[in-house]
Amino acid sequence: MKKLIMMTMGMVMACNSSQKTISETSEVTYTPKSPKVYAETITEEELKEHLYIYASDDFEGRETGKPGQKKAVEYLREKYKTMDIPAAKKDGDYFQNVPLEVSQLPKGSLTVNGKEYPLGTDFLTFSRAQGSYDHIVYAGYGIESGNYSDYNNLDVEGKIVLIKAGEPVDDNGNYKISGSSKKSVWSNMSESMGKRMELATSKGAKGMLYFDQANFPRFKSRFDWMKSNDSGRMELSNDSTGGFFTFWINSKLANAILPNIATQKKGKTLTVPLKIDVQSQNNGVVSENVVAVIEGSEKPEEYVVISSHLDHIGVSPDGEINNGADDDGSGSVALLEIAQAFKQAAEDGQGPKRSIVFLHVTGEEKGLLGSRYYTDIEPIFPLKQTVANLNIDMIGRIDPKRTGERNYIYLIGSDKLSTDLHELSEEVNTKFTNIELDYTFNDENDPNRFYYRSDHYNFAKNNIPIIFYFNGTHDDYHRPGDTPDKINYDLLENRTRLIFHTAWEVANREQRVIVDKILE
Ligand SMILES: [Zn+2]
Repeated sequence: MKKLIMMTMGMVMACNSSQKTISETSEVTYTPKSPKVYAETITEEELKEHLYIYASDDFEGRETGKPGQKKAVEYLREKYKTMDIPAAKKDGDYFQNVPLEVSQLPKGSLTVNGKEYPLGTDFLTFSRAQGSYDHIVYAGYGIESGNYSDYNNLDVEGKIVLIKAGEPVDDNGNYKISGSSKKSVWSNMSESMGKRMELATSKGAKGMLYFDQANFPRFKSRFDWMKSNDSGRMELSNDSTGGFFTFWINSKLANAILPNIATQKKGKTLTVPLKIDVQSQNNGVVSENVVAVIEGSEKPEEYVVISSHLDHIGVSPDGEINNGADDDGSGSVALLEIAQAFKQAAEDGQGPKRSIVFLHVTGEEKGLLGSRYYTDIEPIFPLKQTVANLNIDMIGRIDPKRTGERNYIYLIGSDKLSTDLHELSEEVNTKFTNIELDYTFNDENDPNRFYYRSDHYNFAKNNIPIIFYFNGTHDDYHRPGDTPDKINYDLLENRTRLIFHTAWEVANREQRVIVDKILE
């Protein structure tokens, strides 16, 4: 019905607002309308209409792999079809399958030089692995940065690497990576592990033995907790990650493989017979990202990805539904409204110059799985041509701990990789939405670590400039009370319009946003 009205409306408007002039050569040209016109098609009413369905009990809290999550992806697909916005995948399928597996904690042991070391005592892991090896390659800190590499002259292809935590220091006691007394990202708890695993994988290693004396007790208490509550851990399926495994090993095992490992500087291949027998019960689960695209009119091969997560935490053990209206129902419906606004513009001949990708990812609550699958395993559009990611996760509520203006939003990460994007975001806000942009959580060392806790992080780690839009946690965060009636729809509308205007500017600006800082 609406679309039809729009059509006639469009006709009328064509007459008096976006002037359509017919030149002698009967070429149709449009007088550009301000993006404000399209931002105003993003309304509280429509956001509310969507959210009361998407975060209703019917959707059972949208837990990844469960019926409620399937309802969610169906709903999103239906909406893109209705809006006549095509699927991102060439085969026209709006769903990007994300192969997952729920793995119970594995059981088993390691044998080194004929001596057995039990899982859960001398080493910890969440992945299964089996095999016999004659050599282990010691690769020091397992770091590669600038001219420094622990992998120089080492061949780890198809082998097991032994790596220790820490960073190299020079004779003056300065850290070689930073060149100063400041530690680098390779010592940052949230990143150092992932970076070492990705690097070892990229070198072709089969698995990694990681010796971190300081943090082993912390890993162990987490492992023991999981053992006592073994509800299984959802991960990207082994097949999709190529079966790379990581073992956290204690000092006893590390020194059994390489005595005095703590003082060993140089990487080398060790002749150590190693037998791995770690098994776990894994159940495959298939989930889906929903991905649609509006192709750019001038630079279709450059992509602006706007993302939110479609899943939530499901039903609590006591049967209560966690509706997830704010987390991330607000981001999901905001993305639908932004899409319809761009579609309207495109119908008026004012489509974005760069392509806009609408990426609804699954498995966020399970560990940013859907977005990791998109960036690390199957990016539908090349990451190199992805100019920015705007990620929306919880923009419908107010942080009760915050004082001051209620018309605010926390911005995280906008200045991490691109000063350009940061300034653009500020300018757009001043021009159109006048929201208080709060950078309280923007410091990557902020104890909440929000920078690492939502889907933008998988784009940022690939040096794609990101902005994370977030209203902070509140009393109903991850609780059954996170319901549609508690959403501040006026704030949700204004925040959604800010994101629309920012995407509009990134997509239509002559120059692609400049990446002037790169993460290690
Ligand atoms: Zn969330």
